[in-house]
Amino acid sequence: MPRNRYQTDEPTSRRMAAVGLRDTKPERVVRSVLTAIGLRYRLHRRDLPGRPDVVLASRRLVLFVHGCFWHRHPGCPRTTTPCRNAALWQVKFRRTLERDARATEALRAAGWKVLVVWECETTNRPELSRRLQSFLNRGA
Ligand SMILES: [Zn+2]
Repeated sequence: MPRNRYQTDEPTSRRMAAVGLRDTKPERVVRSVLTAIGLRYRLHRRDLPGRPDVVLASRRLVLFVHGCFWHRHPGCPRTTTPCRNAALWQVKFRRTLERDARATEALRAAGWKVLVVWECETTNRPELSRRLQSFLNRGA
């Protein structure tokens, strides 16, 4: 998969390169499920902490679509740690998690509800749809 297959602005490209996210398919699945539910959303609002992947402003909800490996999905088989340079990877992972935690905290402090959708959860579309709808109903 070519790295810049999808048109993104420069900061997004840099961010994607920084986190090693080569494939935005999980995000596309989430967007398509939201569209199927009939929701309007905005993407990557740069004025919000952590630049959430999806913003449902009228409901004050944001979604992050996280890669399991980089964002360390707990208990997930994709959350592996490479043997080579393990210490270096741990530093990178810790920075990513700290960044995620800061963004979530800032968003919640500003009154946003925050949902994380894990990459591995986007392979089961019906289940993802149920989960998103339940989150949206709670947040309504
Ligand atoms: Zn996972």
